[in-house]
Amino acid sequence: MIDLATKSALVTGSGRGIGREIARKLAQAGADVVISDIDLTTAQATAGEIASEFGHRTLALAADVSKEGDVKKMFEEALSAFSKIDVLVNNAGITRDGLIMRMKEEDWDLVLSINLKSAFLCCREAARPMMKAKGGKIINIASVVGLMGNAGQVNYSASKAGMIGLTKTLAREFATRSINVNAIAPGFIRTAMTDKLTDEEKAKLSGQIPMAKLGEPNDVANAALFLGSSLSDYITGQVITVDGGLVM
Ligand code: NAP
Repeated sequence: MIDLATKSALVTGSGRGIGREIARKLAQAGADVVISDIDLTTAQATAGEIASEFGHRTLALAADVSKEGDVKKMFEEALSAFSKIDVLVNNAGITRDGLIMRMKEEDWDLVLSINLKSAFLCCREAARPMMKAKGGKIINIASVVGLMGNAGQVNYSASKAGMIGLTKTLAREFATRSINVNAIAPGFIRTAMTDKLTDEEKAKLSGQIPMAKLGEPNDVANAALFLGSSLSDYITGQVITVDGGLVM
């Protein structure tokens, strides 16, 4: 049984989707959780639901994690409320798909900022308090397309491949500090992000997945719970795919 009582966690982009499910799962295991999202209303709604479901402290914060000022403020407020962050989940992410010849520079910059720069900013803020606490867990939500590429997602797949490089480098930088840094690479998971796909596209995707179905946010949250717990204490710099066998 995983017990995160006495732990506190911060999950970015956790107003909805995979981040919301990760925050729920960590709270269910006993953690106090910071629900951070670009949209305060969604963050507040999710924080309220999780607090009433599991009875642990939650804190809703609005932050655009691609902005240095927002990230600094988010950590100040989180640390002032919970005094430490044991688990950081860099989850916030977006897509702006298109073939490279038609992709605008702003779509490249926005995706790289929100998906990758955000993780750099959050890890930099988390480093000091985690070192002071002599331990911590950083979980970066990458994607299988960061491992295998995907036509029409040059910005997104580059951001996720970058996330994997960031994960491995920080795992090395923090290894002797008892701070584990790992990534999860989800395959195709049923959220608002994949709701944009047509039924035909979903059927085509499922055809490529050995388990022949899309995953659920809960599948990713289970991996995050493991990486956020002491069960993963001797695991660092790894990428766990949660994809029904798509990449193997
Ligand atoms: P989602 O349902 O779109 O949720 C993403 C969340 O991030 C939303 O709450 C969104 O807020 C928030 N967000 C967007 N921009 C932000 C910013 N600048 N600062 C803070 N929060 C921001 O997506 P999801 O499917 O749960 O994806 C979560 C993560 O998993 C992403 O990193 C994604 O790349 C990754 N992933 C997803 C899949 C999949 O199949 N779904 C597969 C592989 C990897 P708003 O709703 O207000 O915009």
